[in-house]
Amino acid sequence: MKTDILSCGIGTLTDKITGMGEQKFRARQIYEWLHIRKVYTFIEMSNIPLSFRTKLSDEFYINSINIIRKLESCIDNTVKYLYEYNDGNHTETVLMNYNHGNSLCVSTQIGCKMGCRFCASAIKGFERNLTPSEMLLQVYETERESGRHADSIVLMGIGEPLENFDNVTEFLKLISDENGRNMSLRHVSLSTCGLADKIYELAGYRFGLTLSVSLHAVTDEKRSQLMPVNKSYNIQELLKACRYYIEKTGRRISFEYAVISGVNDSDSDAAGMIGLLRGINCHVNLIPVNKIKERDYRADRKALMSFSDKLSKGGLNVTVRRTLGADINAACGQLRREYEVKKKSL
Ligand code: SAH
Repeated sequence: MKTDILSCGIGTLTDKITGMGEQKFRARQIYEWLHIRKVYTFIEMSNIPLSFRTKLSDEFYINSINIIRKLESCIDNTVKYLYEYNDGNHTETVLMNYNHGNSLCVSTQIGCKMGCRFCASAIKGFERNLTPSEMLLQVYETERESGRHADSIVLMGIGEPLENFDNVTEFLKLISDENGRNMSLRHVSLSTCGLADKIYELAGYRFGLTLSVSLHAVTDEKRSQLMPVNKSYNIQELLKACRYYIEKTGRRISFEYAVISGVNDSDSDAAGMIGLLRGINCHVNLIPVNKIKERDYRADRKALMSFSDKLSKGGLNVTVRRTLGADINAACGQLRREYEVKKKSL
């Protein structure tokens, strides 16, 4: 079986190239063709001897991705892509524009196992993990197609990044490699539903990225209803891992909280959050819950602002996330699911 060359780090690639009897510097040249010039074929690598280009195509393949749909928002600069991989699976990538530049929301799995009640990605279940090259291609292809440079990346698309730990950490190394795309991991956020054991492991890498933790409820009873993962790692275990992460990396954590009217926005929810998070070096990001077809969860702007006020008064550092791409259903998981339902009924 041929090797996926776009998933190979420079170290692995060098070992393989020297193993084929070529000199070390060739690996760097090839890496540049793949990650800077972003060619699709070996034949385009014009500074590599022709005979070696043929040998390369016998040993390796260059992965690719196809755009199936592109939705552009009329209200802001949000663009949403539905991509297809070579095995026919689909994923979504969203390009957003904030004051500080373009941010790209990347998916890490085909589907998701985590089963969060409010999340569209959970409805169809899990299919498979994405490989490092499949995540990279979401960045490379979106940048190429849109002509816009991604200033930051958020691993907040479909899937649970820490459940695909090895591939995601490989992707982070590739995207930040100074010989390649060279993106500072300071501009990367990784969002997790709270796999505490993996948070400990991630801390060991000292990536410098921002860890976002999806909290969404402040009692175990409510959180377990909304997020089944809470039955494996409850709130105290999760916060213990978060404290460890902050201590080990020196980075503050961002807690995500999708505010759902009448579900998690009461006075006691606010008081509970203040009690839980006080003293932790963190920031709370309130998200007006995005509607999905299968649930009647909704956001109430006024209640959300008053919830936000209570948290601020209680000493927490709070922001409310702007809703982008509202007209194109930009919340993750919705486009992929609609497309697959339609395809089935044809
Ligand atoms: N699995 C990861 C990342 C994917 S989702 C995680 O759980 O963090 C990225 C963020 O969007 C998470 O905070 C997730 O809980 C939130 N989210 C999912 N569905 C949502 C919805 N309908 N409305 C608002 N936020 C949602």
